[in-house]
Amino acid sequence: MDTALSALEILYVGSSFKDEVSDIAARGAVFHDATTIYAGIAKLKRSGVGAVLVEFAELGKQADAALKALREAAGSRPVLVSMTMDEWEIVRPTGLVSQAEVLLRPYYPDELWRRVTSAALPPPAQAAASFRGDADRLQALMEDSHRLNRFTNDLQAMADQCVSIVKARLRAGRVSLFLKTKEPGKLTIAHTAGIDKEVRDHATVRLGEGVAGEIAQRKRIALVKEAGRDGPTSSRPYKQTSYMIVPLVREPDVVGVLCITDRFEQGPFTDEDLEYMRAFAAMTGQTVANALQFRAADELATIDEGTRLFNRRFFNRVLPQEVVRATRYKHDLTLAMIDVDYFKQYNDSMGHQAGDRALARVAEILRESFRESDMVVRYGGEEFAVIMPETSRKEGNGVGFVDRARAQVEAAGLMFQDRQGNERPLTISGGVATLPLQAQSWEELVEKADRALYKAKSLGRNRIIGW
Ligand code: GH3
Ligand code: MG
Ligand code: MG
Repeated sequence: MDTALSALEILYVGSSFKDEVSDIAARGAVFHDATTIYAGIAKLKRSGVGAVLVEFAELGKQADAALKALREAAGSRPVLVSMTMDEWEIVRPTGLVSQAEVLLRPYYPDELWRRVTSAALPPPAQAAASFRGDADRLQALMEDSHRLNRFTNDLQAMADQCVSIVKARLRAGRVSLFLKTKEPGKLTIAHTAGIDKEVRDHATVRLGEGVAGEIAQRKRIALVKEAGRDGPTSSRPYKQTSYMIVPLVREPDVVGVLCITDRFEQGPFTDEDLEYMRAFAAMTGQTVANALQFRAADELATIDEGTRLFNRRFFNRVLPQEVVRATRYKHDLTLAMIDVDYFKQYNDSMGHQAGDRALARVAEILRESFRESDMVVRYGGEEFAVIMPETSRKEGNGVGFVDRARAQVEAAGLMFQDRQGNERPLTISGGVATLPLQAQSWEELVEKADRALYKAKSLGRNRIIGW
């Protein structure tokens, strides 16, 4: 049976993290579970499971024997082992589990999904050059198309898959995929294989500029069998002079560009490869466009219209993820909850529309006051939150940063008349708490910051209090 066309099936062996892992079912994989190694082995024999994820603790005292039995039952199907960073530090020197097989906890939902699905979908085995004719090529294209279509709601996972498919079909050493950005004519790298990190981090393609940019703008696939003789050369030291540039088009746009070089085996890319990539590109343009659109819509749904800040929906999704990330990498994470002071009185004296404008101004001050990596959120009506990753206790838990923003709001001159008839500037109060010192979960972090905010209010407002 063709596994690539069957459902994506994952077997989880363990009990403690079943809820977290079963989340992959909501994203479209079939989830199986077993609470012991032996139950897992039995399930492996009977089902169409594509990959196994086992908790390290589940392997018990004789971890090597248990893992060996599990791997034997899995055959060619990959077995990922999940563990904490502390466990990994102990396991790594033993060689029992390789870097490619380890999945660190705490689980990070997107990473978990990406790792298990790409493990369950190994790259296609057959190279385009070995096709015996149109039927072979068509079969392979259907397989690849089916695979990519699984990831239209996850652009990064789709980019990963796209690169691994092309790499396998063309037996290429280096493949990069560039994707359309919001800036017209600019494409940035989304995924690469076999390319140095320095190149990867800075790479962009501009339509009409450079070798790839010119080819992409013409929307025509290019195969150069020998650079310098029958095509332009590149300044980069490639191992082989043959390369292919493949624009992915969804009319009228170029949505992506694939750059393919350095074939493993000797010899340039062939006409058979070219035929394959021509069909692959025709099929992939629409799929990539769909994934780009999905992501754009998703981004839009996390922005508050009135202030252009992130909204509560974003907060609810991102704060738990940031807590997981901070815990895993042993970073501090600071949260500030902010509320505008006497805002009812501002509305009463200035009118609701002026109130809206004042809120927009406060939002602007907050956004400009914090670092690029901090996330400023409109939490509710006149309430804001700031998520500050990697903000440490040494920095006073970020209280100083929030207080600087508070002073800027006070100095902005948003004047109103309070109930006693006094002219006064609009101000804010804030409460701040830090993980892991003061809280261990995201719920606790919100609660502590909220209680600190309440204290700031009761002490007279226009101040920032740390938990
Ligand atoms: P406190 O200092 O205790 O926070 O006093 P407050 O008046 O700000 O009290 P509270 O936070 O309970 O009330 C917030 C008020 O802000 C209530 C609501 O009418 C107003 N408000 C909330 N969202 C908006 C908005 O989007 N625009 C305007 N104009 N007013 C808003
Ligand atoms: Mg309020
Ligand atoms: Mg208020």
